[in-house]
Amino acid sequence: MKFGGSSMGSADRIRVAAQLTADQQSQRPTAVVVSAMSKVTDLLLDTLRHAENNDPDAVAQNLATLRSRHHATAQNLLPAALLEATLGEIDSILAEFERIAKGMQLLGDRPSRSVDEAIAVGERLSALLLAAYLNNQGTPAAAVNAARVIVTDAVFGNATPLLDLTRKKAAEHLAPLLAAQVVPILTGFNGATADGKPTTLGRGGSDFSASIVAYALDAAELWIWTDVDGIMSADPRLVHNAKVLAEVTYAEAAELAYNGAKVLHPRTLAPLVEKKIPVWSKNSFNTAAPGTYIAPSLTSPGQGARAVTSMANVAMVSLEPASAEVTGTRIMARALDALAMVGAEVLTFSSSSYRQSFCFLIRQDELPLVLQALRETLALEIEHGYLRPIEVDDNVGLIAVVGEGMRGSAGLAGRIFTAVSREQVNIIAIAQGSSELTINLVVPRHGVEKAVKAIHAECRMGD
Ligand code: ASP
Repeated sequence: MKFGGSSMGSADRIRVAAQLTADQQSQRPTAVVVSAMSKVTDLLLDTLRHAENNDPDAVAQNLATLRSRHHATAQNLLPAALLEATLGEIDSILAEFERIAKGMQLLGDRPSRSVDEAIAVGERLSALLLAAYLNNQGTPAAAVNAARVIVTDAVFGNATPLLDLTRKKAAEHLAPLLAAQVVPILTGFNGATADGKPTTLGRGGSDFSASIVAYALDAAELWIWTDVDGIMSADPRLVHNAKVLAEVTYAEAAELAYNGAKVLHPRTLAPLVEKKIPVWSKNSFNTAAPGTYIAPSLTSPGQGARAVTSMANVAMVSLEPASAEVTGTRIMARALDALAMVGAEVLTFSSSSYRQSFCFLIRQDELPLVLQALRETLALEIEHGYLRPIEVDDNVGLIAVVGEGMRGSAGLAGRIFTAVSREQVNIIAIAQGSSELTINLVVPRHGVEKAVKAIHAECRMGD
């Protein structure tokens, strides 16, 4: 089971997480992965920025906030006899963080390697609190730093697990705890390289940690506890009759996550596919709700489009060959190469013909890096006039319509486009891959909400 930041966000929430853990542990061996308490990772990152900018007062203030929040939670959860030791452990974990922050202050720099070493303390603190509380309630538990279990490559800030090595570590460090009926409470978000350098799996990466651990332990199921009732047919803040989907496939869940649905980290499902480990997405604030079941296939086949999601912080980049001297294919290849070089993700890609323009969508915060990489990689083409000036439109939004049942369903795209055009929303670009799982539309930013509502209604996703 994995508990997200809001499910770990206060003493009361930790009590609920502990109860859910104890309930499961009484039925079968259970391992737990936790996020940092809500907002803690943001605060830790903010502290490191202040350290880099040589602002010791701001660093001290943030440290005091972190200390008092975790102290107050421990005081609320634990009896006096256990409290002193736990407060001491909180202080020593925070002292490690402070040492790294001081180093950054001296350097005037914030190397990603040191950031990774520092920011997993949020998860170490929450794991410590949950384990201490569970022990005190009579469910034996042990906090485990995932740096000892999850082995990754050395891409700091966005590492990828090495699953075979992780499996061996899990057998070494977690299996004995499970055999002794002790619940391992692992830190989400972090890992370490094979030679022990601390890494993190990217923001929101605790879901991914949980699926890596589920894989490594051959788990029967993975339960992800969040603060919403499951995966929904649309964002309920945009669409009033959005509904919770009882079940979705791995492919649908991954498409929704990659296209902006916040309920699951996009990389979560990959480690589970091979072993077909099913996932429950559940709400720790509403434990009576069944949640969404995510599995390789649906028990009853879904009809048509089942969910629509959108992303606003995106930018569209368009490139257009200007002469027959160089083929559009070559320019595409070089542009994609530039994107891969800077690790930018292509959210959607569209071209009506390789001789004409093509465009792709990226995250807005990656735009400066992407433009620089494109200009460097295509410098010769630009200089020789083989390419028109690169065009950027950052006033657009991406909409993704998702559903396994869209495959072979003639007329669906027509209905979707008609519904959007009825709202007078112009469609700038369209993409549908041959798997027919997702239709992507790029529309002006101001039209996103109207288009999402129209598509949800047209495809009767709320019924
Ligand atoms: N605490 C980390 C973050 O906020 C990881 C997570 O919660 O999933 O990004």
